[in-house]
Amino acid sequence: MDQEQQLLRDVFGYPDFRPGQRSLIDSLLGGQDVLGIMPTGAGKSICYQLPALLMPGITIVVSPLISLMKDQVGALVQSGVRAAYINSSLTERQCRKALENARNGIYKIIYVAPERLMTSGFLSVGAAPTNNIVCVDEAHCVSQWGQDFRPSYLAIPDYIKTLSHRPVVGAFTATATGEVREDILRLLQLQDLKVLVTGFDRPNLYFGVLSPTDKYAAVRQYLLSHPDRSGIIYCLTRKTVEEVTERLCEDGFSAVRYHAGLDPEERRRNQDDFVYDRARIMVATNAFGMGIDKSNVSFVLHYNMPKNIESYYQEAGRAGRDGSPADCILLYSGRDVITNQFLIDQSEPNPDLSPEQQAEIRQRDKERLRQMTFYATAHSCLREFLLRYFGEHPASYCGHCSVCEAGFELLDASDAAACALRAIAATSRRFGITTWIDLLRGAKNERLLYGALAASAEYGALADWDREQLRALFSLLLADGFLTRTQDDRPVLSLTDAGRDFLAHPAPLMLHRPNPRTHSTHPATAKQKKGAAQGPVDASLLARLKELRLSLAKRAGVPAFVIFTDVTLQNICAMMPKSEAEFLQVPGVGKAKCERYAADFLALLASYKGENLQ
Ligand code: ADP
Ligand code: ZN
Repeated sequence: MDQEQQLLRDVFGYPDFRPGQRSLIDSLLGGQDVLGIMPTGAGKSICYQLPALLMPGITIVVSPLISLMKDQVGALVQSGVRAAYINSSLTERQCRKALENARNGIYKIIYVAPERLMTSGFLSVGAAPTNNIVCVDEAHCVSQWGQDFRPSYLAIPDYIKTLSHRPVVGAFTATATGEVREDILRLLQLQDLKVLVTGFDRPNLYFGVLSPTDKYAAVRQYLLSHPDRSGIIYCLTRKTVEEVTERLCEDGFSAVRYHAGLDPEERRRNQDDFVYDRARIMVATNAFGMGIDKSNVSFVLHYNMPKNIESYYQEAGRAGRDGSPADCILLYSGRDVITNQFLIDQSEPNPDLSPEQQAEIRQRDKERLRQMTFYATAHSCLREFLLRYFGEHPASYCGHCSVCEAGFELLDASDAAACALRAIAATSRRFGITTWIDLLRGAKNERLLYGALAASAEYGALADWDREQLRALFSLLLADGFLTRTQDDRPVLSLTDAGRDFLAHPAPLMLHRPNPRTHSTHPATAKQKKGAAQGPVDASLLARLKELRLSLAKRAGVPAFVIFTDVTLQNICAMMPKSEAEFLQVPGVGKAKCERYAADFLALLASYKGENLQ
């Protein structure tokens, strides 16, 4: 075993590196700048924390979020690493003290808010020639094309220039479309670069889309059928957050709310209640979550469709960070599209950009929203859709998403497509999808009969397709640009030039057609089978371990998962260590934590065994 792996075991308690970690660590240690693009939960932090421990001197980590810094530093200190953070949450005195310690070389790792970099106090830390790595977390914040542009990130290269020698620079992000990636390379002035993109797949996440008529009822049903799970419900607006939280509390669920309109005191309190497991459910706008490293989030429900796939994957990715099975379910309704459209139109223009650039950004936002809508209405594997969006070439069946579970067949739908397009081309009148589906199925509703649509040559031409299958066909025609749809309350369809071309020269068109009548399966029911594959864990022992963890966490003043994650506790249950040496073998237990906690846990295991023998 080499030094790096030894350190991974000793300090972090993990037996093996995850994909990509090794290569990024080796590059940084070899003096090469890196750009690491890994999905949320993949384990980016270790990629710079571990080299920080192996290099002499200090590693500076630029991070946009105060809560993230606090948790990361808390976790490092728990693992026996000297670390500190410098941001606006410190008092003047604490800050002076931290800077003094830093100058004296007390810390290996210092987290800093970008706004602080160019302050005289912080510059004095870098003056010592011992600054070896500068890491930029959430590096997409440097790009104004990204979703979370932070102008203060642009000061990072200036800061690096103030140092007596150029450190190795590592940039990390979970989001990088081509433009954002180029911005990161250019604006952070990365040199001799290694770019590593790990697979974006998160196999432990189950992806589902539901279009329930009553969203609240669907949420309630989910929560009732998963009573032990803790998770996040994302809503698009503050008002919806308020409404959903209120109803959940009335219904007896333990839920707290979070959005930018609350006073900072309540925000902090609610966040802590959730992170410290005092509240089971967090209902929030997208203001919540960046930098929340709560590892036992077992579901992320989206009450509304978010504005783009980047945001969706990042928010959904907050589930299952410890690698245990978790659900990511989107509750979609057509209204979500309109709300998002409105939010894009209302968004604050960036005053530094020209009107043309602003128009361009709006246009891109709309295109991103369109892609998100295709996900919400997809009839092919959801995981495939997401991974393809991030530039991968995944298999077209994952078996672990709501579409795969419901089942679908792949067929050449060119005749059916031509039929639908012909019907639309034949009249100058405009209708929404539902009317066209009625027409193609030959429905006997009044509107068709009196509107003379029943006289159309295509009336009833696709009578053997069910409604859901025809919806899939229309989604495909929209996604491929053969049809467009107006963006208002009652969207109507019209044929595009590409659609007319297709009618003139029909080409094969492959469609994932949902299997008849199986597609309404609720993922909650389908899911329960999967959980059981986990192997039995002694639930009452696990509960006792959690109690112990909670009391240790309270004593140390840190969230419970900082002591041990749920997965680590499950590993303890499964391995039943009898000695300190065995305890150290449990994945998730490092040396520092073993020294600190082995005695308490071993005592509990011994007495538990004793009780169960009697
Ligand atoms: P990211 O910043 O990429 O979202 P984190 O660095 O917060 O992810 O890591 C996510 C979780 O994975 C953390 O709980 C972390 O301790 C865990 N983790 C990281 N690397 C490993 C590894 N090699 N083996 C097991 N767990 C790991
Ligand atoms: Zn799938």
